[in-house]
Amino acid sequence: MGPPGAGKGTQARFVADHFGVPAISTGDIFRANVSQGTPLGIKAKRYMDAGEYVPDEVTNLMVRNRIDEDDAAPGFLLDGYPRTLAQVTELDGMIGYTGHRLDAVVVLTVDSEELVQRLLQRSETDGRADDTEDVIRRRQEIYTEQTEPLIEVYRDRGILVEVDGMGEVDDVTARIFAALDVIPQS
Ligand code: AMP
Repeated sequence: MGPPGAGKGTQARFVADHFGVPAISTGDIFRANVSQGTPLGIKAKRYMDAGEYVPDEVTNLMVRNRIDEDDAAPGFLLDGYPRTLAQVTELDGMIGYTGHRLDAVVVLTVDSEELVQRLLQRSETDGRADDTEDVIRRRQEIYTEQTEPLIEVYRDRGILVEVDGMGEVDDVTARIFAALDVIPQS
């Protein structure tokens, strides 16, 4: 978890590689569907472009199908899911059914002004449609309203791992590994 621009996608791949499990990014799956023009992509696009969350029932079904795939059987890392309290409940149900359990929820903490600057920079390199300043600020608001409350939920469950997400990518990765108590691969 972490606000937009915190570096979730980048760090998720490092952590998933370390554990040899797939990094399942709901944002990436939505973007792939948008670029292929699938019905799911068409449905998701207007929410994404506005910086809003795609409705829970659409997102939940997509995640349910994805974690049912064979490569996710040994475990998986979710990047960008759950993002609402309803998704937390839904995920509990899904993994209750598949027999997985949540080992850790990593939250990257970052300064909000630095985030806007990072995202504006990303818009120049990646050309993401939702990286304009207005949409970035809207995405931050939605994160604060809908996703930040999840931090307390997972803290209460004793699986929250808070990591300072500021600074160089490698330093943040090292902090995540240290917090998860794993030895990084060279
Ligand atoms: P991300 O790449 O994680 O920043 O996600 C990009 C966009 O995809 C978000 O701004 C939402 O519109 C949508 N999205 C990704 N994950 C979710 C989710 N768990 N629930 C609802 N919408 C999501």
